[in-house]
Amino acid sequence: SSDLTTMDDKNPDKQSKRVRLYYIAAILLILVINTIISPMFFQPKVHEVSYTNFLSMVDEGKATKVEITKDRIALLCNQEGKEQIYVTGRVDDPELVSRLVKAKVEFSQVIPKQESPIMSFFNNWILPFLLFMVIGQLIMRYLGPKLGGGNMMSFGKSNAKVYIAAQTGKTFKDVAGQDEAKEALQEIVNYLHNPARYKAIGAVMPKGVLLVGPPGTGKTLLAKAVAGEAKVPFFSISGSEFIEMFVGMGAARVRDLFKQAQEKAPCIVFIDEIDAIGKKRDNGAFGSNDEREQTLNQLLSEMDGFDGSKGVIILAATNRPEVLDKALLRPGRFDRRVPVELPDLQGREAILKVHSHDVKMDPQVDFHTIALATSGASGAELANIVNEAALRAVRMGRSEVIQEDLEESVEVVIAGAQRKGAVISPEEKKVIAYHEIGHALVAACQKDSAPVHKITIIPRTSGALGYTMQVDTQEKVLMSREELYNKIVTLTGGRSAEEVVFNLVTSGASNDIEQATKLARAMITRFGMTEEFDMVALETVNNAYLSGDTSLSCAPETAARIDGAVFDLVKKAHKEAREILEAHREKMDELAQYLLKKETITGDEFMAILHGTMEQAEPETVETTAVPETAQVEQGQEPEA
Ligand code: ADP
Ligand code: MG
Ligand code: ZN
Repeated sequence: SSDLTTMDDKNPDKQSKRVRLYYIAAILLILVINTIISPMFFQPKVHEVSYTNFLSMVDEGKATKVEITKDRIALLCNQEGKEQIYVTGRVDDPELVSRLVKAKVEFSQVIPKQESPIMSFFNNWILPFLLFMVIGQLIMRYLGPKLGGGNMMSFGKSNAKVYIAAQTGKTFKDVAGQDEAKEALQEIVNYLHNPARYKAIGAVMPKGVLLVGPPGTGKTLLAKAVAGEAKVPFFSISGSEFIEMFVGMGAARVRDLFKQAQEKAPCIVFIDEIDAIGKKRDNGAFGSNDEREQTLNQLLSEMDGFDGSKGVIILAATNRPEVLDKALLRPGRFDRRVPVELPDLQGREAILKVHSHDVKMDPQVDFHTIALATSGASGAELANIVNEAALRAVRMGRSEVIQEDLEESVEVVIAGAQRKGAVISPEEKKVIAYHEIGHALVAACQKDSAPVHKITIIPRTSGALGYTMQVDTQEKVLMSREELYNKIVTLTGGRSAEEVVFNLVTSGASNDIEQATKLARAMITRFGMTEEFDMVALETVNNAYLSGDTSLSCAPETAARIDGAVFDLVKKAHKEAREILEAHREKMDELAQYLLKKETITGDEFMAILHGTMEQAEPETVETTAVPETAQVEQGQEPEA
């Protein structure tokens, strides 16, 4: 939340305490420098000798120069080529001058430098102090708001900052798509504007609202927008900020936060990443986390304790709702849940437009095409795509972003930047080209497959050696068994091409294999698409918004049968892909040659070659198919890497 400007901390005594500490430290430092360090460095190394020794040195002719001050005598000696300084106390010795003259030593009485004590005091004490004051001011000015407490000095004080509504600078206009979420939050904004209206009818606002969704979908952004719309104070804190080194500190913070919030009501308290404190408390195995539990308990009791009709609304965001403690979710606490899902086609287009607002764009740019190609991308990724495109335009020396920039940056975000310097031998390049053409050809020969958009064999920094991009003409929310199966056939097409053409098996298909297996498994265990297992859930998804990991929930014998079914399904798909490619062997050669020559070809070029000599491919079946899919990226292991 760094783009929000903070108002002063609510506790000025904390600030002044910090300033006082700083000056005490500065004074101590000057003291140390003046009394210990500077004498060590600035006074020459001298040896103290007795007056007798001094006289004998003069008499022996070792001295080259003597300086006499009011109470000391310094002697410069030249011993074995090295200059040494000796000092001795000045003794009232009337013969000294004649001795020195006799020894032919250059000598003089040093006239003490007339540095006034005031000047020296100023130089040694006042000047450094002024310097420290200036530095202190600068630190306070630039770092003060960022330091924002949280250190050992501010025990038990809340980290919550008060935000002025107008300064969040975000409104619902900045959030594209997410209409349902905005609608749900609009009610809260209305309530904060006019609580009396709700009171009159006897309606009670929920105390807490939980925003849940995958990372980067705009949860934090929405919370800021609510504050901007409601024009009420906005307390923002991240769940992890509650967790402190010392047990009890987090609880103190919660207490303090709610105290501040109630003083400022109506207002919004936003707890980002609430799963950091809100995790289930039942993990007794490893010594339970006392600090976190105390903090959570405090949060629960504060939420119960405050009077909701005063107008304090608590927003929280998380991408792991399933780990939250049940107690947090019960009515009276976070009982309203607002899903913030990945954007759909229209949502993506809108987000691209919002982020292009401040970017100079060629008026010809077609956001719809980009939105189609980015199925599954989050708002944050789309924002990143627009920015990457703008950066590319600058690199290319253009003053506007054009379609090509956007399309290239989609690929950069999906598969990483191009690896121009990668050295790949011609034979390997040929294998990669056939592999990609294998995918594309299988996809094109199937009824229910997304049209091929682009094929490239330029390696990417993600490790992809090439990829085939399929883009749908429209967005689909349902996938039939046939479509899923066809997808598996397409995924096996790459390896099949290697086999058919070179009779070769390479490591380049590892990512295809992984994806195909995952799909086949999901069809059997979660989508109920086999007769054998029918509509029985054999796997459950653990955290839908993050990795999407699954856990098996069946007997070991069943698990073995599932594995068998997965083998059969993938094998069948692989066989089918090989058959398709064997039937189109000549076409495959022609396409692979073309791809090798151009390195990147568009779907249109691909289709033109395909249709040029092959009459049996039905063009319309290719046009009308639709499977939501972003791109298949070959994460092939690099040869000899
Ligand atoms: P989350 O908190 O859900 O992980 P953020 O709110 O931090 O995601 O979103 C990160 C960035 O992505 C935002 O700052 C914004 O630039 C962009 N973004 C995400 N969703 C949207 C959206 N719906 N409209 C506009 N920008 C969005
Ligand atoms: Mg966030
Ligand atoms: Zn592949």
